[in-house]
Amino acid sequence: MLLNKNDPVYPSGMEIMIHYVCPHCHKTVRVPPTPREVSVTCPFCKGRFALVPVDDSSIKFIQVMTLNGLAAIPQDYL
Ligand SMILES: [Zn+2]
Repeated sequence: MLLNKNDPVYPSGMEIMIHYVCPHCHKTVRVPPTPREVSVTCPFCKGRFALVPVDDSSIKFIQVMTLNGLAAIPQDYL
C-alpha cells in the first residue's frame, strides 16, 4: 500500500485502551487491556489501585472486526 515516501501512511495496527477511574483522585486513567488482575500507579496522583481484568478474546474480536484499524479509513483513501 505504501507507494511513495511522501504519501500518507496507512494504519498498521490498532491499540485499544481501557479507561479506569482512579479511586484516589477520580481522574480517568487509560490502560492497555490486561487479562490478569494487576495494580497500576495513577499518573496524576501516584496512588496505586488494582484493575479488574479484561477478556483478551473480546479485544482480539474488536481488532479483527475493524481489520486492525483499516476499516476506519475514509473511502477516499481506499
Ligand atoms: Zn489518581
